Amino acid sequence: MSFELVVLGAASATPTSNSYTTSQLLKMREHYFLIDCGEGTQKQLRRSKTKFSRINNIFISHLHGDHFFGLVGLLSSFHLLGRTTPLTIYGPPKLKEIVLTQFRAAGTYTSYPISFKITQHKVPQVILETDAYTVVSFPLKHRIATTGFKFEEKLMKRGLNKARADELGIPVCDYHGIKNGKDWKSEEGTVISNKEITYDPPPPLSYAFASDTVYVPQTAQYVAGVNLLYHESTFCEDRVDRAKQTMHSTAKEAARVAKEANVQYLLLGHYSARYKNLNQFEIEAKEIFENSMRARELYAYKVSHHGIERKCLTEQAHEE
Ligand SMILES: [Zn+2]
Ligand SMILES: [Zn+2]
Repeated sequence: MSFELVVLGAASATPTSNSYTTSQLLKMREHYFLIDCGEGTQKQLRRSKTKFSRINNIFISHLHGDHFFGLVGLLSSFHLLGRTTPLTIYGPPKLKEIVLTQFRAAGTYTSYPISFKITQHKVPQVILETDAYTVVSFPLKHRIATTGFKFEEKLMKRGLNKARADELGIPVCDYHGIKNGKDWKSEEGTVISNKEITYDPPPPLSYAFASDTVYVPQTAQYVAGVNLLYHESTFCEDRVDRAKQTMHSTAKEAARVAKEANVQYLLLGHYSARYKNLNQFEIEAKEIFENSMRARELYAYKVSHHGIERKCLTEQAHEE
């Protein structure tokens, strides 16, 4: 099994002629999660050929404009496209007021219901849970209330070993019970243990998004062992002081979190516009954590138990 992360924007502060501010689309267990929504996110969603209607949950880490100025525009487009499916937005307390004020001022409404779920930045919190996955928000340390998000798949049911079931002459009507963990009993009374006729499910995968933050040792605890960690890295080593002043991290600090959390892969992003050569972020992070890579906009990162694959989604985005 696998999940895919599409990086829509990886710049900090302001969009430029060739970069967008923070936004990512996570595709996990058939669900699409939009994480942060910087200005121009809907344009990037279009360029990545994402169907808007697949997005039912949006997660906003904090209320700095580079993380949510694209939200009202996207919500308006959903309305203009005739959306009727409910949408849930997870974010800081003031987000609802901001969004609704804009809609009220324009005398507009949405064709679909929006629920706002408030995140709180003091302790980790389960904010969404289904049979397939859990989403947890966790505290970060930034100039204003900020959370990260961890998306964890749940362990799936055991898979039926069809060949073995055929060999034993198990009728199809008994498959359901076996998939739900039952042993099988033949008409003669022989009991076949569930383990013998099923496969182990694949271990669940996980992704963590650590938005704007200074280095704090607790982050490693919240994201411990994830398969992929995105951690902001606004600056390189030449601007350590600037990172502290603005409550951001350097590439090396992001790598330190990845190492301490023992994650599988680290993705860097939220680059300051002062840097022209973004490879420097990767070079510095790798000195501490080898499996580091820098996020590229309109690239999809597919993570499975076999590793990570990177794919460019558009011709224009191709850059090496
Ligand atoms: Zn930011
Ligand atoms: Zn910020």
